[in-house]
Amino acid sequence: MDNTFLNELLDTIGVSGFESEVCQAFADYVRKHVDNVETDTMGNTIAIRKGNNPNSPTIMIEAHADEIGFQVLHIGESGYIYIRRNGGIDEQCLPGSQVVIQTLDGERIYGVIGKKPIHLQKTEERKSTVEIYHVWVDTGLPADEVRRRITIASPVAFAPNMIRLGEHRIASRALDNRLGLFVVSQVIKHLANQHHQSDIYGVATVQEEVGSRGAVTVGYNINSDIAITIDLDFATDVPDCPPSRYGMVSLGGGVVIPRNADCNLSLSLQMEEIAKKNNIPYQLSARPHATGGTNTSRLQLSRKGIKTLSLGIPCRYMHTPVEVCDLRDVSSAINLLVDFCSNTGIMKEE
Ligand SMILES: [Zn+2]
Repeated sequence: MDNTFLNELLDTIGVSGFESEVCQAFADYVRKHVDNVETDTMGNTIAIRKGNNPNSPTIMIEAHADEIGFQVLHIGESGYIYIRRNGGIDEQCLPGSQVVIQTLDGERIYGVIGKKPIHLQKTEERKSTVEIYHVWVDTGLPADEVRRRITIASPVAFAPNMIRLGEHRIASRALDNRLGLFVVSQVIKHLANQHHQSDIYGVATVQEEVGSRGAVTVGYNINSDIAITIDLDFATDVPDCPPSRYGMVSLGGGVVIPRNADCNLSLSLQMEEIAKKNNIPYQLSARPHATGGTNTSRLQLSRKGIKTLSLGIPCRYMHTPVEVCDLRDVSSAINLLVDFCSNTGIMKEE
């Protein structure tokens, strides 16, 4: 596993609609391992590795490049910045968070999300839940400098904050979905040293967190036989997530192979078979809902229908600045996909 590139990806900023820094890092990394790298109108970045057999099913492995974040809504008289959400952020996490604002020329300006000190709050204020318009971003800069360097609508993200937890785990903002994109990059790198029959499309998609839009155009454009999405999945090994209600998915328990309406059943069974044969840890999941409404279901409905599967990396505290994942699950996802991509084509198509 290329930890240097993982650190690099976790340091990129890519709020939905502003993903170019992430896509560029992905493109730069995979370029030497593929035949071609393309970017489409939306900003989706597509790395293509030709296989040895043009009759083999074509495979897209896809991860969204964007992250939940904010945009600048208003700059007040004193230079305090008010923001609105871009994607499903848990607003209770806002006060005390560190953020980074991207200027139009890609410069970073750091700030913190402030609110009125607890000492000055009335009793009812202390009990109330946080809403985004209760808080503001303080960059520490004079108001005229804020107005000169930051424009309305500038993207704002939680600031890079990765830490290691024990030997195998990491906590960071934007593990959703830099880890998925990292998996795609590592699969492509491994495939460069192997024979594979199928054409492989490694794709970084844009705008998943605001309605899975990049997946719509890329699904139509590539028109692959198979599309596999890698994204984070809810780990339920935390308090207040009873398995009787949410199912059981554990951190460190292996890559999640789901079986629900978004996923092609034979593909899911085939993936499980490969995991068993190669002793790759995996967990089966029905998912807490019948459909995830993510990139997988958008790709599934492309053209006359695509065989889809979404592989999951278990994650605690999703959509907060401290998402926690286990790198062993990341390895499981990489190994499973490398085996799948290198064996598809010699397996017969059902
Ligand atoms: Zn995601």
